[in-house]
Amino acid sequence: MLCGSRIKAVLRHGKRLAIVAASGRALEVQLGMTGALLIGTKRTKHQHVTWSVSGGMSLAFVDPRRFGGVRPWKSERELRDSWAGLGPDALLATVTSLTRAIGAARRPIKALLLDQSCIAGIGNIYADEILHASGIDPRRSALLLTDRERKLIASRTVPIMRLAVRHGGSTIRDYQHTDGSKGGAQLLHRVYGRAGLACLGCSRSLMLTKVAGRTTVLCSHCQK
Ligand SMILES: [Zn+2]
Repeated sequence: MLCGSRIKAVLRHGKRLAIVAASGRALEVQLGMTGALLIGTKRTKHQHVTWSVSGGMSLAFVDPRRFGGVRPWKSERELRDSWAGLGPDALLATVTSLTRAIGAARRPIKALLLDQSCIAGIGNIYADEILHASGIDPRRSALLLTDRERKLIASRTVPIMRLAVRHGGSTIRDYQHTDGSKGGAQLLHRVYGRAGLACLGCSRSLMLTKVAGRTTVLCSHCQK
């Protein structure tokens, strides 16, 4: 796919990632739950794809549990067309565009935040963090949120996502950087992974439940 070509650009929108070659072709990389792109010289386990790059280095796609994958596209245009259904990017969007994206669906607000066609880039960890920071119960129907509440969630989203990226992302089990190092953002989590512990807002015990089929932690006192 990338053979003999120079890497022209690396693109990202939400959780989608792509390498664009100077030849015009593009390779989409889906990290899934356990996938990673590693740069180095050492071979590791579960290395499904390896590209030799100049300078004796290699770029490798590893994915122990195989939830991710790589997908070739004939052109950057085709790739971008396939991304057209994604919502605004949670790291880069404005509060106005996120507020609009949250909209008024009947589904629980957490399901909506996880829906990549509404907002792209939010996963289970940060959906819980954003809703706790907003004081909104993840089980509430998005339809019944007030405009002020939608705007509040939107305004919490970008800073929380940016802070997590600044701290290198959350390494709970599998997440790693291109050099194999771990992230540190898990130390910032105020609700995720803290079920049964004291809420950092009110000291009451955080509860564990399921919303949209996903493990969810919330404070029933602080989140209404
Ligand atoms: Zn609380």
